[in-house]
Amino acid sequence: MSKVLIIGAGGVSGVVVHKCAALPEVFSEIMLASRTKAKCDAIAAQLDRPIQTAQVDADNVPELVELIRSFGPELVVNVALPYQDLHIMDACLETGVAYLDTANYEPEDTAKFEYKWQWAYHDRFKEAGLMALLGSGFDPGVTSVFCTYIQKHHLDEIHYIDIIDVNAGDHGYPFATNFNPEINIREVTAKGRYWEHGEWIETDPLSVKRSFEVPENIGTPNIYLMYHEELESLGKHIPGLKRARFWMSFGDSYLKHLEVLGNVGMTRIDEVEFNGQKIVPLQFLKALLPDPASLGPRTKGKTWIGCQVTGVKDGETKTVTVYNTCDHQECYAEVQSQAISYTTGVPAFIGAKMLLEKKWTGDGVFNMEQMDPDPFMEDLNQYGLPWKVIEGSVVELD
Ligand code: NDP
Repeated sequence: MSKVLIIGAGGVSGVVVHKCAALPEVFSEIMLASRTKAKCDAIAAQLDRPIQTAQVDADNVPELVELIRSFGPELVVNVALPYQDLHIMDACLETGVAYLDTANYEPEDTAKFEYKWQWAYHDRFKEAGLMALLGSGFDPGVTSVFCTYIQKHHLDEIHYIDIIDVNAGDHGYPFATNFNPEINIREVTAKGRYWEHGEWIETDPLSVKRSFEVPENIGTPNIYLMYHEELESLGKHIPGLKRARFWMSFGDSYLKHLEVLGNVGMTRIDEVEFNGQKIVPLQFLKALLPDPASLGPRTKGKTWIGCQVTGVKDGETKTVTVYNTCDHQECYAEVQSQAISYTTGVPAFIGAKMLLEKKWTGDGVFNMEQMDPDPFMEDLNQYGLPWKVIEGSVVELD
């Protein structure tokens, strides 16, 4: 029986709130707070049980502290934006409450996805006897748990990790992003990077491409090498790792639009002068694009996200792939969200459940791969993200 405060009321939040509300024996009281209270109320109105809602500016630490003190949660689930991570962590430290998020902090003026800012909080959380769990979404999140599951049950040592994220869904728009457009475009337009022997190898954005036949007749998409934040934490926490890469599928229409938008300066994240006012082009573009939370009813098709991992078992080289497929329409029927929000929101809910049930414990700041994968993997099967294991590879990538 625990109280949880969920911050942010976008696409991912809608899923987290639905799932927590459906499990009152763990999440006995829920408060949903965000910048726009009307969005919290709209999510609350979809539920079968009452929850509290509130307005909060999660960049304002005193305001957060006051809200946390007035509600008295055991855990704060941050599904606002990465810019708010440090402020919410500060408020959790001040009030003595555990913390969970789905994306690592980045400064608003530089698209730099790095854990260094949040890892720097480790000692403070440790001294306070509190746990902060970072990156409890799908990627990062489930992908890290898939790797440690393979390490625990299928290999003696992991050497190579390829994380592959395919969205074969179609929302019918020529261009829209499946999660927050600003974060999505910052991520995709950044340089590609992968981790090898402790070093980062940099590639031009979207310059390395492969294609493969995705299991379960999901299609034959192009996948592109990208930087993704779990590469950094996996490099730190998986002993014996030689290389970790991340691949994501993009449709031709998405890439064509992105190229043009980039060429004309619309994806810039620095301020420009416009009619006597300063605007950030990417933030303006976000205002024009469809809200990801509105894509649910119109998105059809499936996602496929898996980890193809090669290592050694009993002295022999062995490859194992663990993956999940998720159907956009089935997600919508269950929680009124498309599969990208669903595949992020369900792991955030399970991560919160792990903390509140004390299946995952620790004092300090932790990444997902530092935890025992088994209870989390069991809950993925039970709460909507079942997974499969294949002995062998699904795609030739070298
Ligand atoms: P949305 O943009 O749909 O929602 C973000 C929410 O945060 C909005 O309700 C927004 O308020 C609120 N918010 C923003 N700033 C503040 C603030 N200062 N104070 C209070 N609330 C604020 O994003 P998504 O739901 O798509 O994504 C949520 C998070 O999940 C992001 O951090 C994203 O990076 C992460 N993510 C992680 C994935 C993973 O697999 N690990 C995959 C996809 C997303 P308002 O409504 O007023 O704008």
